[in-house]
Amino acid sequence: MTDGAGEWALPEDTEDVRAALVDWYEADHRSFPWRETTDPYEILVSEVMSQQTQLSRVEDAWHAFLDRWPTTADLAAADRGDVVGFWSAHSLGYNNRAKYLHEAARQVEEDYSGEFPDTPGELAELMGVGPYTANAVASFAFDNGDAVVDTNVKRVLYRAFGVPDDDAAFEEAANDLMPDGESRVWNNAVMELGGVACGKAPDCDAAECPWREYCEAYASGDFSAPDVPQQSSFEGSRRQKRGRVVGALREHGELALDELGPRVRVDYVPDGEHGREWLRGLLDDLEGDGLVTVEERDGGAVARLAS
Ligand code: SF4
Repeated sequence: MTDGAGEWALPEDTEDVRAALVDWYEADHRSFPWRETTDPYEILVSEVMSQQTQLSRVEDAWHAFLDRWPTTADLAAADRGDVVGFWSAHSLGYNNRAKYLHEAARQVEEDYSGEFPDTPGELAELMGVGPYTANAVASFAFDNGDAVVDTNVKRVLYRAFGVPDDDAAFEEAANDLMPDGESRVWNNAVMELGGVACGKAPDCDAAECPWREYCEAYASGDFSAPDVPQQSSFEGSRRQKRGRVVGALREHGELALDELGPRVRVDYVPDGEHGREWLRGLLDDLEGDGLVTVEERDGGAVARLAS
């Protein structure tokens, strides 16, 4: 978990955050046939097909491909022209992908005696298999991958926890969040969240997003993301701070300004540039939006969530 320089942090109750997402995913999710299998060959075919083709169209092609070449041995023995012909006939994008898939099947047969390797590093040695696909196969076939970080996952992390638009930060946050040794269910769940709840136009309530109580974007109402038109960096940073105020008050009930300030920004100094006066401005905005109430008491102002 990171704080300080990058000015972001995952919620402290990481276990609850994880459990909420996995429960949400297991209660209901879109059904794709490749989610029902742990066969690495079948998963690799689905991953390669879905790189350029909508998931709804991949399903028919995937079934047809596996009917024709059910195993790596069958595919390795096929004529390359037939595989490429299948690819074109099903409008699956670049024919090179068909050639690489055919070659990968040969590698599995010849270099690995027909048994797929099970680590992302070894899988990435297969022809045409990049780091993303290797990790997906390791996760979904062998429960042995790292956290998937794709556009959907970045959008979720950016909105929910204020992770900055930076690849290293996304990698770190995604891997910190993933429960050890549970890449299969976790990666499916977080990709599902990005696909059905936290899309470019998020559907937080209708999709019953399990992270609403932790989410900075949900608290602030600003749903910009790396792939959704940005607000100015000033607005982006204010959004993050508003989210932190709401998160801290949710966790602690009510807080005096000097208790709240350090939980909102690490450089809070009561009389400094980002001190009480700055915090009062932020709280006034939140109060105006009906999210927070501020009460003057003898010892100073105290903030809590509006009821
Ligand atoms: S509450 Fe909304 S914005 Fe936040 S993670 Fe869930 S779907 Fe995305």
